[in-house]
Amino acid sequence: MNPYMVTFLHHSGVLVETENHQLFFDVYFDDNFTMDDLESLIVEDKQAVFFVSHGHKDHYAPQIFAFSKFQNKKAPVYVISTDVEPIVPDTVYEILWVKPNQTYKMEHGDTLIRTFDSTDAGVAFLIEVDGVSIFHSGDLNWWHWKSATNEMQSQEENDFKQIMGQVVKAPIDLAFVPVDPRLEEAACFAMAYFAEHSDAKTLVPIHFGEAFETLKMRIDESTLKDDLRLIIPSHNIERFI
Ligand SMILES: [Zn+2]
Repeated sequence: MNPYMVTFLHHSGVLVETENHQLFFDVYFDDNFTMDDLESLIVEDKQAVFFVSHGHKDHYAPQIFAFSKFQNKKAPVYVISTDVEPIVPDTVYEILWVKPNQTYKMEHGDTLIRTFDSTDAGVAFLIEVDGVSIFHSGDLNWWHWKSATNEMQSQEENDFKQIMGQVVKAPIDLAFVPVDPRLEEAACFAMAYFAEHSDAKTLVPIHFGEAFETLKMRIDESTLKDDLRLIIPSHNIERFI
């Protein structure tokens, strides 16, 4: 049996459920994913942990702290990049502020957190929990914009490869990597690099907004290794076993 379950929430927001934990990454709220949606996903018998890779509004909403005062449910803990404005209510009982290129052990259990730098803001996360190794890229992406100069494009490429080159050395079970359709032909650059250099078992694209159709068109599965499981979400709040 798979030791984890993935629910794609929306954009870069995902839920990974392991034996004892519910790990929420980069959750924010809009019409496509509401606080009620999130509340309905939280179960009583697992520890919820919210990870925030950085403070951009498509990765973070301060309302995630509202879940800290749940009745009859274990209080969630929070792992948040230091670039996020620290407006934290008193009700939050455990919060870990993280910077790039560090390793942390969470107080409440055996969860290990390794952070990497980003090519935008904040951090990328590599988490080891309940025997599962999970990578969430945040905005660490190969930002190859058509409108950029050649110099800027190669700088972006170098920066991305320098950081992702470190990430791919780690054993990874499950990875979330950006495929941003706004980059057009370059949308899959980050994913392709990651897939080629990493031994990750399962890969899920993120950071494509509501562009589910474009996402499907952009991804060429024939270029990926046979033993890599690629999960392509087709709608918001989609659960994969
Ligand atoms: Zn972003």
